[in-house]
Amino acid sequence: MRVFLLSAAFLLGLILMGVAAAASAQQVAARATEDRPDVSRDYQVHLVYAVPKDGKDRNLDTDGTIARSFSKANEWFAEQSGGPGLRLDRAVDGSVDVSFVRLSQTDKQIRKAGAWVRDEIEKEINALGFNDPKKVYLVYYDGRSNFACGGGAWPPKLKGNTAALYLRGFVYGNACYGVGFATKDDQGPRYTEFAAIHEIFHTLGFVPECSPHHTRAGHTSGGNTDLMYAGDQAWRPRRIDIGNDDYYRHGLDACPDLANSVFLDTPSSGTELPPTWTAGVQCTYLGYGKRECRGVERAGAE
Ligand SMILES: [Zn+2]
Repeated sequence: MRVFLLSAAFLLGLILMGVAAAASAQQVAARATEDRPDVSRDYQVHLVYAVPKDGKDRNLDTDGTIARSFSKANEWFAEQSGGPGLRLDRAVDGSVDVSFVRLSQTDKQIRKAGAWVRDEIEKEINALGFNDPKKVYLVYYDGRSNFACGGGAWPPKLKGNTAALYLRGFVYGNACYGVGFATKDDQGPRYTEFAAIHEIFHTLGFVPECSPHHTRAGHTSGGNTDLMYAGDQAWRPRRIDIGNDDYYRHGLDACPDLANSVFLDTPSSGTELPPTWTAGVQCTYLGYGKRECRGVERAGAE
């Protein structure tokens, strides 16, 4: 009996060591609940991993999943653009700065917002200080939606600074992110990665209504392989702005062009802010297109 007890203790020790080893292999970065000090003070995209009050925390921020998936998405965009990608928020050690937020509402409370899940997330993260006047936020939300797989702001019609992917979204009988994350070197971008770029483009104001093929609030009808396509065909993203006539290098006067966005990284020298953004004015977004701003002009609630 005594031998058995010793063996049991020894086995338990081995199991605990195994758990500790697995944990240390996954924890490649410490968790940050606030934006880390910035390397660049240019306009940039900041990534957030958000879990509802009662949601399971899968450590997608600290195990590198979100950073690798988004980097892959942004590499694809840079291939498409022929140069710049989106400027990413990086910490001083060069790593992608991914913040963690535990939301104050339960998964069910947020899901009940229906078409406005993104707005509830935007409201919460802005109140926590994710309201830098030079940042848009992409939130990997580990909660449910039965309405959509993600959402973005779409200024000027829907003012906002936050895009979101609903990682446990379940729409039309399908798990939105059943394909998982493309995090290995030999994997190309898949649904998750395309969705990330798609929702950020919306949040920067694209596709604008002045585009010739604009359709369905921020999309293009110019082919179902376009990243910003919406329509009756299945979405099979492979390209940005097919024909360069709607949102990227379109050459149209008085119509926003993503190629000129301040959010693009070098070799771009874009000067276009998203519609309704003003340099030097800090806005705290409240969701539902509402915001409170303070700065040089037009301060106050809208
Ligand atoms: Zn869309």
